[in-house]
Amino acid sequence: MIDNTSIESLKASIDIVDVIGHYIELKKTGANYKACCPFHGEKTPSFVVSPSKQIYHCFGCGAGGDSIKFVMEFEKLSYPDAIEKVASMYNFSLAYTQGSSDYSDTKRVLEAMEKWYIKNLDRNPTATKY
Ligand code: ZN
Repeated sequence: MIDNTSIESLKASIDIVDVIGHYIELKKTGANYKACCPFHGEKTPSFVVSPSKQIYHCFGCGAGGDSIKFVMEFEKLSYPDAIEKVASMYNFSLAYTQGSSDYSDTKRVLEAMEKWYIKNLDRNPTATKY
């Protein structure tokens, strides 16, 4: 499973205009961006992206949501797959949890200890010599 905190920080670091701009051409109109909806056939743009609210909405077919929802709908992906897709677009490294949260806590402690040992090894001349 993808760590929830990591999903939240990914969402906070991406811009919906940029994400949707990867797939379709957006035209700036005032505070928002417009495009012909990719989810239903149309000739006049009724698909609106709001950078301030970080959401999209289509007045033609009623499609709407956030950046992740767009990638899910457009690429026909599941939620975790869409998260991974967006993360790879931005070279964002996601953290994963395995099984229960107890396990990830233990892992976090072990990783912190490992870092501490590596850091301290450099400072110890006897250990370095060895
Ligand atoms: Zn539509």
